[in-house]
Amino acid sequence: MRTQRQVVDYSLRKRAVLRELLAGRVGTYDVCDASPYLKNAARFHGEPTDERCPICRSENLIHVHYIYGDELKQSAGQARTLAELPVLAMTLREFQVFVVEVCLGCDWNHLVEQYLLGRDGLAEGGSEGDAVVGDVSGTVRRRREAQR
Ligand SMILES: [Zn+2]
Repeated sequence: MRTQRQVVDYSLRKRAVLRELLAGRVGTYDVCDASPYLKNAARFHGEPTDERCPICRSENLIHVHYIYGDELKQSAGQARTLAELPVLAMTLREFQVFVVEVCLGCDWNHLVEQYLLGRDGLAEGGSEGDAVVGDVSGTVRRRREAQR
């Protein structure tokens, strides 16, 4: 998506987990622990991918997009389909997206990436001094304070 910013990629962490698993330092029960909520989100809001599950290799991974941010109010923490994100990005100034991959076959799940979306990204630099609050946007707030 064009307005994606402050993207954090978790593929290195994922590879580390898979290495630990291969080495037997963690068990599949440790990493294949998708909650019923996450699996429901994957079924109803998930984005199918062409990527095979790295654990069971029998199902393709599904990406679930969770949204966080003050402007979302009661919707914060909910899953959204990929198609809904551009619409939200046009109406909200800023919100955080967490992408989680899930396998419905063996319950493997892992954070894929996180990024910010919203209108603020379209007018870069025009929003200095705006308070961004919320657990996940602490780094954003710190960065803006540092610029002052
Ligand atoms: Zn699997």
